[in-house]
Amino acid sequence: MLDNVRIVLVNTSDCRNMGSAARAMKTMGLKNLVLVDPKEMPNGQAQALAAGATDVLANAKVVATMKEAIEDCGLVVGTSARSRTLPWPMLDPRGCGKQMSQEGKEYPVALVFGRESSGLTNDELQLCHYHVAIPANPEYSSLNLAMAVQTLSYEIRMNFLEAEQAQFDKQEVESDSSDSELQEGESKYQLVEETERFYDHFESALQKTGFIQPKHPGIIMTKVRRLFNRARPDGKELKMLRGILASIDKSVKNKD
Ligand code: SAH
Repeated sequence: MLDNVRIVLVNTSDCRNMGSAARAMKTMGLKNLVLVDPKEMPNGQAQALAAGATDVLANAKVVATMKEAIEDCGLVVGTSARSRTLPWPMLDPRGCGKQMSQEGKEYPVALVFGRESSGLTNDELQLCHYHVAIPANPEYSSLNLAMAVQTLSYEIRMNFLEAEQAQFDKQEVESDSSDSELQEGESKYQLVEETERFYDHFESALQKTGFIQPKHPGIIMTKVRRLFNRARPDGKELKMLRGILASIDKSVKNKD
């Protein structure tokens, strides 16, 4: 997915911003940089600011127009520091991360950044499906170009990581239920009856060890219930706990 994300810088005048943008991209796992009609080509200063991301800079594609940079993309999002007179579908940075990471699974997607001096023109903004604005201080909302690249790339990465984690969790649940001894109609969690048997066993084991005095039981069992309620042990875990209690029973018996 991240390989399908393209960062497009339009008409950048300071090539140091290109270097910093390349670094911002690489730290977030992005590598496709396109420079549209740059005012100067990346030089030593740009490379110095790119630091460990000079490869992103070296592989940057240079094109003459924004159209060329985005023509094979299925989704194009334009960035803007100010709300324009031009009403357009807006995304917030988080929503932008989500949209790009979802559509980026299917086809190339582009995030387009404007000139340091004047941003993107209305014509350029109209080539975009959505606009995104970082909700910065209304009295001073214009971020440095590379910092805007960093902020929005971070949101793409966060969304990508969330999706990856969700996929991992889903696989875990699937493999968990396939290797458990769950029969059809049986639920992952134990029925109250089962759990109550466990609490009875727990209490009797603690009476045997002397931790609970039958005449003055106090509220230990209430606390124990609260603890296990929070943890919600599943069938396999409850079985293990019953095994632990049985081993306590046995060791107490052997001592008698
Ligand atoms: N003076 C310009 C701002 C240029 S900042 C203007 O008023 O439009 C250079 C670029 O950084 C912008 O074109 C945009 O791509 C990005 N940028 C800066 N601040 C931003 C913000 N708050 N939200 C989204 N993008 C921003």
